[in-house]
Amino acid sequence: MQFRNLPSVDSVLADKDVAAATKSFDRDWVVDLVREALESAREQIRQGGNSPDAGHVATSVCQRIDDILRAEPRQVINATGVVIHTNLGRAPLSNAAIEASNQAAQGYSNLELDLGTGRRGSRQAQVQSLLVQITGAEAALAVNNNASAMLLGLSALASGKEVVVSRSEAVEIGGGFRVPDVLRQSGGTLIDVGTTNRTYVRDYDDAVTENTAAFLKVHASNFRVEGFTASVDTADLVEVGVRRGIPVLHDVGSGSLLLTEKYGMAHEPTPQESIKDGAGLVFFSGDKLLGGPQAGIVVGKKELVDVLARHPLARAVRIDKLSLASLTATLAHYLKGEAEKEIPVWRMISTPEAALKKRAQSWQSGMECPSSVEKSRSAVGGGSLPGETLPSWVLSIDCQGTTPEEVMRRLRESNTPVIARIEEDRVLLDPRTVLPEEDAPLLDALRSAVAN
Ligand SMILES: *Cc1c(COP(=O)(O)O)cnc(C)c1O
Repeated sequence: MQFRNLPSVDSVLADKDVAAATKSFDRDWVVDLVREALESAREQIRQGGNSPDAGHVATSVCQRIDDILRAEPRQVINATGVVIHTNLGRAPLSNAAIEASNQAAQGYSNLELDLGTGRRGSRQAQVQSLLVQITGAEAALAVNNNASAMLLGLSALASGKEVVVSRSEAVEIGGGFRVPDVLRQSGGTLIDVGTTNRTYVRDYDDAVTENTAAFLKVHASNFRVEGFTASVDTADLVEVGVRRGIPVLHDVGSGSLLLTEKYGMAHEPTPQESIKDGAGLVFFSGDKLLGGPQAGIVVGKKELVDVLARHPLARAVRIDKLSLASLTATLAHYLKGEAEKEIPVWRMISTPEAALKKRAQSWQSGMECPSSVEKSRSAVGGGSLPGETLPSWVLSIDCQGTTPEEVMRRLRESNTPVIARIEEDRVLLDPRTVLPEEDAPLLDALRSAVAN
């Protein structure tokens, strides 16, 4: 019955906005979208719904066009309290980093031109000198991400050879990054030593053959082994390495350049200390605790970094100019001693509890529905400090009659989507990860999400 009420393709095309769209865009494309919209209306009728009129179908076609043309990823507000959230794009950039990549995007740049000589230069020159200065390493290289840094490092140094890894470190980091798989892809053979919970220096020593290319250490970024455990310190492993002529490669994961214990958390290994311990190469991400753009960073001994830089894969995984610009601007904050103030992830981590409480209270007074400001914990996340949390204050929404899942869905569907979390049937919003300029859109989203 309802099928007969379904508007025709022509009647939808006659709608003012759809007609305008057929002029702005390829007409056949718009006609296809109208057909698709009518097909989904038909499906709704099959499920027992009513037929929409031509106006409704037209609106959904225009909405679909907007959706297709919208630039993605788009801005969302992270109210989860998870500072480095891989699903939400990891680290937000500092103002200087944003400005630097805007500059690089707008016009031409000296990406590979030496302005002193007028000859070809290296895109790595500036980032290398900053990294050398900050970490104390002899040389450095920036690539696409940490996974590609590892793949490049292992391909260049260990293809056709053996790499010794502790059984407790042949791990999966998430998102398809598994140490054994990366090693296999690089053409190296994994020699795992020790047991899941305990590995000793002699395990590495005993595994050395004439075919050993490296000792690989991998930071357990996203899990914690507790209890009866033993692992080998970088410095002790380097001692064996020096004696046997084998470099130590160290994936430190999040690449924290500041000391996390200063913020009441466990110590996250830093690239600086790994270099000081004598590691041959240290690998880390640019967009985790470093607080910059997606990038993979290798620092270490010059003779090893040079082998990586000359390998054909280096070209395949090279860093693009926009990331390079924002990475160098981010690194400069560390040299200027202003990382905590300028780099958003460090600003968030170092926000005092009292400031978080005040902010949650100001949100509370900006909305009418029942809510409370409660003590809670935020997580650092993103492959760093597993199980570690920071004391925080949250706005806790009483969902009155509707479910927390429904409130979460409405928050996600607001103009600027808001991502919160659910605990014990309440929706919690953590101010730690909400940027200062996001207060107004957050409150708009909240008001409409809880209005019944
Ligand atoms: C996050 C992480 C990686 C992967 O880094 P990407 O920059 O995401 O490629 C590799 N190793 C460790 C230990 C990590 O924590």
